[in-house]
Parts: sequence; C-alpha cells; structure tokens
Amino acid sequence: MNSKETKDFIKRARKLAKPFRVTDDSFRLKNIDPKDTLHLTSEDKPHAKEALAMGVSLLTELQDMLYAQDRWAVLLMFQAMDAAGKDSAIKHVMSGVNPQGCQVYSFKTPSDEELDHDFLWRCMIRLPERGRIGIFNRSYYEETLVVRVHREFLERQKLPRELVTKDIWEERFQDIRNFERYLTRNGVIIRKFFLHVSKKEQKKRFLERIEEPEKNWKFSANDIKEREHWDDYMEAYEEMIRNTATKHAPWYVVPADNKWFTRVVVGAAVIEALSSLDLHYPKVSKDKLKELAAAKKTLLVGK
Ligand code: ATP
Ligand code: MG
Repeated sequence: MNSKETKDFIKRARKLAKPFRVTDDSFRLKNIDPKDTLHLTSEDKPHAKEALAMGVSLLTELQDMLYAQDRWAVLLMFQAMDAAGKDSAIKHVMSGVNPQGCQVYSFKTPSDEELDHDFLWRCMIRLPERGRIGIFNRSYYEETLVVRVHREFLERQKLPRELVTKDIWEERFQDIRNFERYLTRNGVIIRKFFLHVSKKEQKKRFLERIEEPEKNWKFSANDIKEREHWDDYMEAYEEMIRNTATKHAPWYVVPADNKWFTRVVVGAAVIEALSSLDLHYPKVSKDKLKELAAAKKTLLVGK
C-alpha cells in the first residue's frame, strides 16, 4: 500500500470499529446484537478476509516501528464467555506480527502464589515492555466477573474480613480505573475487547466441540455448567463495562456470532490504536550517519 492507500485504510478501520467502542457509563448490553455485521452480509466475507489480510500486513509494519521506537507499549485485553472466539481472534489478528515483539498471556484460575498477593499483581508482572504488544487472554477483569458470579472465589482470596464489604465491586472498578490511568500516563496504550456471543451460538459451538473429533479437546463439561449462570454473567459484564470504559482505555463490545466479522472489527480496532500513536522509525543522528558511511566504505574496499 502506498501512503495514501494506507491513510484511507486507517480511516476505514476507524469507521468500522467506532460503533463498537465504549468510552463512558452510558453503555447498555442490550443495544449490541451478537449477530450484528453492520451493513456487511455473508457475501462480503471474501472482502472481509481480504481487508483482514491487508490489516495484518499494515499491523506488521506498525509493530516494527513500535519496536524500533521503544517508547510505547500496547496492552490488548480479551474477555468473553466460553467459545466466543477469543483464541481465534487473537490468532488471526496477530498472525503477521513478529513474535519477538508480542507477548500473549492466558490467565487461568489463580494459583496459591497468586492468591497470596493483591488481585492486580499477577497481571502487573506480565505487562508488556516498551516497544511490545502484550495480549491478555482474560485478565484482572475476571475479578469482577467469575469472582462476582461465584462468591467462593472471593472467599479463597484470603482478604482480611473487614475489607470484604458490599462495596467491594465498586472498589475494584475504582482500582482498575486508577491502574489504567496510571498505565496510560506511563505510555501503555490500552484497548479492551469483550467478544459478545449469544447463548444460542454458544450452544451450537459446544455441540460442534462434542461432535467433531478434532474439536473434542476443546470441550470441557464445566463450560456447560457455566451456561446456567449466563444472566448473572451478562449483568456482571454490563456493570464492568459501564464502570471501566474510559476515553483512554475504551472497551470494544464486538458482536461474536460471526467469527469473520469479529476478527475484522478487532483488527480494525488494533490498527486504530497503533495508528493513533504516530509511530516512526527513530531518526538517525549525524554521528550515526557518518558511522554508517564509514562502515560502507570499509565494506566496499575490503574483500
Ligand atoms: P479455552 O478457550 O481454552 O477454554 P479459557 O480462557 O476458557 O480458554 P480455561 O482454562 O478453560 O481457559 O479457563 C480458565 C478459567 O479460569 C476460566 O473459567 C476463568 O473464569 C478462570 N479464571 C480466570 N481468572 C480467574 C480469577 N481471577 N479467579 C477465578 N477464576 C479465574
Ligand atoms: Mg475454557
């Protein structure tokens, strides 16, 4: 792509991602349809794939500059119900990215060591370094989701009893907002994704996991049990997004019943984030230029 094409592409990416971006507390989950594909139909699928491929190559370029510049870090967080497509969205969108500049971490049920610390600790030690893209597959947001839906997880956290009050969720939202403000002030760009799949589509995907041998490994009986808490989860997601969506750390609530659409929106949002940084390769100093010229001369006259 030449520079005009790149500019147009970034503009289109921004437009595509915008309807799904949440930056304040006005958000309502019921306004997002998991089946939504904007004006695109399944006939546009090949175009969407093409756009994703172009996006991936642009992302490769932007990441190269991010790495060379070594100033900003990018933190992308993914949250979703099971089978919403977190893994495949991460895989597709980041497929062109140099593994050296990218760190992916999946957060599972906390270990004993992790439970001996404050709730942000295990995520803090895995934050991306400058010049890197860090991906959190689940994150400290689980602390306001699964931990809220299943109170026994909170009990396991060894918090002093007098600190566990009815305000605990509001306090966690506040701590998360402050933490993200702090990170932003230190050059960490934050984008958060909730892949919003419908209960019906989740059922279909679970059945595929049971019926198709190569998907059997993905099936977990516990995932079926979690479905019983669907409404509680949706309530927790809505509260979480309303309380933690900000201009500097927006949520993207991405329709997830159609995987091809999910990937395009996530890709567009990541491009939007990186292109907002005005990345460029470090300018080489006069001394360095002299050094390069001298090195060239040496190489050319030598054998
Ligand atoms: P997969 O697509 O492979 O199923 P996954 O992200 O669902 O990926 P699992 O190992 O199945 O990975 O699940 C991780 C589990 O850890 C989830 O059920 C999640 O709710 C749970 N978990 C994550 N963070 C916390 C936390 N802070 N407290 C309690 N449970 C947590
Ligand atoms: Mg799982």
